[in-house]
Order: sequence, then C-alpha cells, then structure tokens
Amino acid sequence: MSFGRLQPLRVLLILATLSFSAFAETQLDDHLRAIVWPPYQDETVKLMGEYLRIDTSNPPGNELAAAEFFRRLFDQAGIQNTIYPYAPGRADIYAVIKGDGTLRPLIMLNHMDVVQADASSWRLPPFSGALLNGEMYGRGAQDMKDEGLLQAMVMVIAARQHLPLKRDLIFLATADEEVNDTGSAWMLENHPELVRGAEYLITEGGTNLIIQGRGTIHEVGVGEKAPFWLRLTATGRGGHGSIPIPDSAPNRLVKALARVADWQPPIRLLPSVEQYFRAIAALEPELRATQFRDIRKALQDTAFARSISQDEEYNYMLRDTVSLTLLRGGFQTNVIPDTSYAELDVRLLPGEDPDVFLGQLRSVLADDSLGITPVNRFKPPNSSSTDTSLYRLIEQVVHQYNPQAIVAPGLEGGYTESQMYRPLGITCYGFNTLEVTPEVDATEHAANERVPVEQLRRGVKILYELVARAGNQ
Ligand SMILES: [Zn+2]
Repeated sequence: MSFGRLQPLRVLLILATLSFSAFAETQLDDHLRAIVWPPYQDETVKLMGEYLRIDTSNPPGNELAAAEFFRRLFDQAGIQNTIYPYAPGRADIYAVIKGDGTLRPLIMLNHMDVVQADASSWRLPPFSGALLNGEMYGRGAQDMKDEGLLQAMVMVIAARQHLPLKRDLIFLATADEEVNDTGSAWMLENHPELVRGAEYLITEGGTNLIIQGRGTIHEVGVGEKAPFWLRLTATGRGGHGSIPIPDSAPNRLVKALARVADWQPPIRLLPSVEQYFRAIAALEPELRATQFRDIRKALQDTAFARSISQDEEYNYMLRDTVSLTLLRGGFQTNVIPDTSYAELDVRLLPGEDPDVFLGQLRSVLADDSLGITPVNRFKPPNSSSTDTSLYRLIEQVVHQYNPQAIVAPGLEGGYTESQMYRPLGITCYGFNTLEVTPEVDATEHAANERVPVEQLRRGVKILYELVARAGNQ
C-alpha cells in the first residue's frame, strides 16, 4: 500500500497537530507559571488543621461532618458537588470540574475516616491539628487526610485559576475505608455512572521515603495483595491431661502448623515487581545492584533466591505469604480439648487463584482431617500497568521537583480502595506527593501521627502540576 499522494497532506496534518499541542503545552506552562503559590500554600496548611480537627474515627466514622467541610470549600470556589448520605452520620462526597470531554476523566479518590486514637499515648491531642517543630499532629495526618485535603485544594485552585481541562476532574471522598468499605461499595452500587468512564484514578498507596544515606524512593502503588484469611480447625477426642492422646486435636494442629511455618509458597515474579527491583538497584552496593537489575535471572540462583526470601522487606513481593497469627485450644491445663484452631493471615499476589493456593496449602498441611474455612470476604487482588501516560507523567513531575528521587512501582502488602475501582477498567495508582522519613511514616495508624508542614506546602504544588498536566494529556 502506498500513501505517496497523501504524503504532503499528512505532513501538513502532523505539523498542524504538533504545533497545536506545542501551543497547548505552552498555554499550560503559562498557566502554571502564573500561579502565585504562597497564599494557596498558607491556605493548605490552615485547612489541614481544620480537617484534622474533625473527628472521623471509625467506628463510628461520622464522615458527614468531613463531607460538609469539603462542601463548604467547593461551594465557595463554585465547584459542582453533591453529598451522598447513605447511613446515619455517614456520607460520600463527589465533586467535578468539567473538561472539554476529549479525554476520559481523572478521579482523585480519598477516604475521610481514620482509625481510632488512644490520646494517652500522644504527645499532642490526636484531633488538634497542633504544630510542634514544623510538624502538624493529628489522626489521619498520614492516612489519608493529608492526601484528601491536597486533592481538595487542587480542585479549588483549578477552579479559581480556570485550569483548562481535556478531562473531567473528579474528586471523590468516601466513608468507612478503614473498616468495611461501605462508602465506596455504596457509591459503586448506587452511582457507578459517576466513575465508570474514567481512565485514571489516584488515591492512597504511594509512599515516598527519605532514607538516610541512600536517597528518596517514590513508590507509586500499582497493585495490592489481597487478604485471604483462613481458619484451620482440628477436632478429636478430649480427655484428662494425665492420659495423653497422641492424635488429639491440639497435637494434630501443631504438627500441621509446623509444616506450614517451614513452607515458603513458590516465587512468582510480577512485571511491576521486576521493574521495582530494577529501579531501586541504584541504591544498592555492587553485586546486589547487578542482581536487582535483572532479578528474574538472579532468582534462578538458589542461594540468591534463599537470601532474598529471608529479607522481610522484599519477600512479600515475590510470593503469596502466610503468617500464623492466632492459636486457640483448651481452657484448662489438665484437660485435653476436643477442638483446637488457628488462623492464618494469607496474602495473595495479584493474579493468584485462591483455589490453586488452597490446593498447595492442603498438600503442605498433609492432614485431610483439618477443616479449612475462610475468615474474611475475599476480594480478588488486581494491579495496573505502569505502561501509561499517567505513570510516565508521575515520573516526570517527581523528577522535576526532586531530580535524584527514584520512582518505582510499589506492590502494597495491605489493601487500598483501588482494588474496587480497577474492575471498572480504571487504571489506579497510589500516588502521594509528600516525602517523609521512615520515622514519620511509621506514625500511620500509630501514636503521634503527623505531617511536616513544609511537605504540605510543597506537596500541593506538585499535585496541582501533576493533575493539571494529566488533565490535558
Ligand atoms: Zn488509608
């Protein structure tokens, strides 16, 4: 086939497209340059304090108060928004800034509830938003009122600055992520049309650690492992402790558990995990750096596979994992019980079939008399590809603000709401703009949860730039 005659026309078209997109880019650059940041940054810090003072400990949640806080912000900025109350005190809030519709929407998702806080172990009250040494304290300062507030600020700034958009920009804040996910579940069940056509979603699950002497790693969450909790039950003849029963319920249970404790499920290397090791290789000393650069090849060496499996930081990314977390049986020292049970916290990699895993576990237990029952409602694990324009844009924007940072795709051991939105065909990433030390990061769900104020000021600017660019390409 020849395009000989069409060539001049095509060249013209290409030139026209190029100059148009170059024009659009300059327009966006001009837009970004024109923003005067200090007042927006001051406002971000002030509002962060207000948001942290709204107690949304779950249970009971009371997210309606947080939704009303966001509604006030959006109403003042003229942003179309709706609160969806779905149970007493519980609500989601949805807001949208319309684009010209040439690209599919981008969703910023956050949950408004937080885990409970025991005030007696905190330096400053957990719902104070108080400042100490440049850090703001409050339950949710890491998980994830920080990200939620930055997302809301991005909406407000986009509206005030009249950000041109090719995509709709959607803000969705949900209730109950920390306990039962009823907020997202309600939204997906009752208003799937609000999110269904979206191309991208960003939410929690990104962590950017400043590691002393090594550098800063920006982990973009691309997938999560799924909890597949199991109870193993042994039953048998009970009796007096003075007359041992060799095949009693506790004896059979502990023997089977010993086999599980010695077992490592097979390694299954996901492409994103391979990419993760390649990215962080630069932080490792030689030999290990070479191994990390081609982890697939390195894992063929059994000595290396064994050593990396012993490293808690990496092992969970390479395989399904099993942790023995609960053991019960008996009530008195001189009574052999007729029932004993244990619970396993099993985490499956994206793509894993729970039945295949169960088959492997049964053969390791090697005792068909043991009952195996699920403890939680299993939701299949999933992940998003890194081969997208948004992922590349994240790399570009992160490097613009921190040229030395390493950007790597992260696999979460825990759960995020992304898992519920990926089945709709939405590419979901855990993305966060705040860089923190491991010490601050560890305050998530713990005492003295806090966020460095300087990071809030920097973070709002970076998130705005990412969203502004992503909204136009
Ligand atoms: Zn969270």
